[in-house]
Amino acid sequence: MQEEAQVLADYIAKNALRNTHQRFDVLDVFINSEGHFSIEELHDLVKKKHPNVSYSSTFRAMQVIEQAGLAARIRGADGVFRFEHFYKHHDHGHLVCVKCGQIFEYDNSAIIKLQKKIAARHKFQPLRFGAKVRGVCQKCQKSSQ
Ligand SMILES: [Zn+2]
Ligand SMILES: [Zn+2]
Repeated sequence: MQEEAQVLADYIAKNALRNTHQRFDVLDVFINSEGHFSIEELHDLVKKKHPNVSYSSTFRAMQVIEQAGLAARIRGADGVFRFEHFYKHHDHGHLVCVKCGQIFEYDNSAIIKLQKKIAARHKFQPLRFGAKVRGVCQKCQKSSQ
């Protein structure tokens, strides 16, 4: 079994949730897709492989996958939540386009180093690092000219 599937199976067992195939179908598609996906985008991908998984099943599956610590959600500039991998995933910053909602990742290790220093100074225990920059992507800059 894939490591992520094991984490999900453990979480489902520990919380006495219903053990459905569909959750693992959704997890499989999510883990094998790199990026930031809204429920709608994710469901489009899931449908291709598992046509009988509904939108609401995808939605509920992602909630459980998130609670199990396998996914994190970020809010795009369009207000839509998008999910990305979280389990053993390196921290990174996000550039969010306010026009099209596209999300770009960047290496924020230098920023994290600084944030750790600041946190230590305040005896603050950081749980998750991140730095989100809102702006306009290259494509949207071109289309508004
Ligand atoms: Zn854009
Ligand atoms: Zn990301």
